[in-house]
Amino acid sequence: MANQRQERGTGGDGIPPGERPDREPSPGLNPEPQPQPDPSPEQPAPVSGTVRRRGLLVGMGLTGAGGLLGAAGLGGGEAAAAGGPHGKGAVRPEQFHGGAHLLVPEVLLLPDGPVRDRAVLVRDGTFRAIGPARQLIAAHRDLHPVRLDGHLLMPGFVDAHHHLTQSFGKARSFGRPSEIFKTVWEPLEHALDEESAYVSAKLAALEALRGGFTTVADAGTRAPVDVGVVARATEEAGLRCVLSEIVSHGADGQAHLGRWDGHPLVHPSLAIAVPEDAPGEVIKRTADLCAEAGAVLQIHVNEHLASVERSLKSVAAGDSSCGAGRMWLEHATAHSADAVGLGSVTGEIAVGKAADFLVVDLDVPELTPSYDLRWELVRLAHRDQITAVVVGGRLRLWCGRPLDWDGPALVSRAAELGPEVVRRAGLHRVEPPRPA
Ligand SMILES: [Zn+2]
Repeated sequence: MANQRQERGTGGDGIPPGERPDREPSPGLNPEPQPQPDPSPEQPAPVSGTVRRRGLLVGMGLTGAGGLLGAAGLGGGEAAAAGGPHGKGAVRPEQFHGGAHLLVPEVLLLPDGPVRDRAVLVRDGTFRAIGPARQLIAAHRDLHPVRLDGHLLMPGFVDAHHHLTQSFGKARSFGRPSEIFKTVWEPLEHALDEESAYVSAKLAALEALRGGFTTVADAGTRAPVDVGVVARATEEAGLRCVLSEIVSHGADGQAHLGRWDGHPLVHPSLAIAVPEDAPGEVIKRTADLCAEAGAVLQIHVNEHLASVERSLKSVAAGDSSCGAGRMWLEHATAHSADAVGLGSVTGEIAVGKAADFLVVDLDVPELTPSYDLRWELVRLAHRDQITAVVVGGRLRLWCGRPLDWDGPALVSRAAELGPEVVRRAGLHRVEPPRPA
C-alpha cells in the first residue's frame, strides 16, 4: 500500500469462490480450498509452513511510498469504522483490544494465496492457529469471533532498508544529482540533536505504519546521539525495528547487540556505511560478530554509482519481465523479513509468527472488479484502504492514526523542527532555471 504494491486473488489467480454478499464470484476462480486437516487449533496449519530463502531484498526501497502525510486515511477505513459502505457489520478498534482474538476476515492472505472462510487465532502477540473458520470458532467458544466482512487480513510489509533519522529531508533531496548522501543526508543527520533525532525517527515510524509497514530495518544513523532515541521512537510508535549501530571505526558492536536482547520490537544489527569506510579486518570482525549473534550486518554497496544505472537499464523492462503480483508481495513481506534476519519472526500469516498484520478494506472502486487480488494489491491498492495496523498483536494504527499516542502533535513538532534542522545543516536546494 506503499505505493500501490498489492493485490487480490489466489495463486492462479482470482479470489477463491466464496459468498461476498455484494458481489458475484469473479470468473476464472480457483476451486474452493480444501479444508486443512487442522481440527486442533493449536497445531500449525499445514498451509502456513513455508521454507524461505534469505537475502534478495536489501534496499528494495519501499519506504515513504505514496500517500500524503497530512491526509490521515479517510478512505475505506473510515467507511468500515462507520459500518461499511454496503451496510455490513461495523469493524471497530475495540474489537482488537485485549490479549486474544479470533479474527474471521472475508479474505485471508496466506503464503499460498488468498483464501476465504478461514480464521486466525491471535494470542499474546502471536498467531496461534489458522484454520477453517467454523472449526476454530467451535474450538474457542470463550472468544467472540471478530468478523471482518469486506476486509482482507494480510501480513504487514517489511522495509528492508530505511534511515529513520532522514525523514526531515523530504523534497530537499529531490532533483539532485547522484550521491546525495554527501550533500543531503549526512549534513542533515549531523545537524540533529537528541530531540530532533527522536522526532524525525518517530515521524518516519508513523509514515511507515501508515503505509502498511510493520517492520523496518534502519541502516544506521550518523546523528550525534545515542541510537537509543531511535529505539524509543519506534517502540513508542509500535513499529518493529531492526536497529543498526554504525561501527565503521572498529568500535565493538557487542554492547549494541546485547543491549536489546529479548526486546519484543527492537532487533539489533550492526552497520558499516560503505565498504570504503572500514578496513577489511573490521568488516570481517563485524560480520563474524553479527553471525554469532544471529543479527544482520548492513552495508551500502553498489549505491549511487554508474553501475546501478547500468543494472537498472539491463534488468527493468516492465511488468512482463518482473514476475507476478505474488512475487512482489512475497518480496515486500516474507522475503524482506528473511533479508533482515527476521524470517522466523514475521513476514507472513503463519502459526508461531508474530501477529504483524494489516486489515484492508476490499470494497473500494479501485479493486472492483477483482480478478487477481495479489496483482491488484500491488498495482491498485492504497494506504487509505488500511483500516488497522497490528504489530505484535497490538493495534497500532486505526484508519491511519495512532490510538495510544498523539500523532498530530508529533507531526506539528516535526513541522517546527524539520526546517530548523535543514537550516542548521546548510541544505540549499538550487532550482534549475526556467526555460526561456
Ligand atoms: Zn541507505
